[in-house]
Amino acid sequence: MARYGEAVCRQCRVERTKLFLKGEKCLSEKCPVERRAYAPGQHGRARKRILGYGIQLREKQKLKRYYGMTERQFRFFFKRAERKKGITGENLLTMLERRLDNVVYLMGLAGSRRHSRQLISHAHFLVNDRKVTIPSFLVSEGDVITFKPRSAQSAKMKELVERNRGKTIPGWIEMDWDNMKGRIAALPTRQDISLSVEEHFIVELYSK
Ligand code: SF4
Repeated sequence: MARYGEAVCRQCRVERTKLFLKGEKCLSEKCPVERRAYAPGQHGRARKRILGYGIQLREKQKLKRYYGMTERQFRFFFKRAERKKGITGENLLTMLERRLDNVVYLMGLAGSRRHSRQLISHAHFLVNDRKVTIPSFLVSEGDVITFKPRSAQSAKMKELVERNRGKTIPGWIEMDWDNMKGRIAALPTRQDISLSVEEHFIVELYSK
């Protein structure tokens, strides 16, 4: 049986894209995508041409796995994106980027998005001094994210912060490492999302 780590890395190899699901390993040369770009399995090396529905499905799965969501949660976000003014695909991406679990990960206060979800649901974080335990909570401009005072004192959290200090933080988040605090300086735009994904295929898939 494949161990958890192997199953996670397999998702990246199937998508042939780095989804950054395993924390520090993703940035090291141990990352299987760096070592073997092809998909797992007997036919992994064969370059298959994917067309139509296959591409739409691949782009959706890629985005869903990147943010670690179930199909149901992902559809819910898509419906919200559709109801908003503007381009649905862009609305979807920017909303996903604003999820608290993603923001905590980008701030460097968790090793991966999965780890971030765990810390949030164990009530380690405050948003504007109020406890938030919902990983899908959407941050707004001006929100301030901090550790709960007791969590900030924990040796584990301090070690995590020290390890990630100096990590590249996206421009829409201002990080105050000394006070373990992040502020949403502006809402993310499409250009702020580094994952290579063609969101119009996802819109086409759900519009059928
Ligand atoms: Fe595994 Fe991370 Fe590399 Fe993906 S990016 S294959 S999760 S180590």
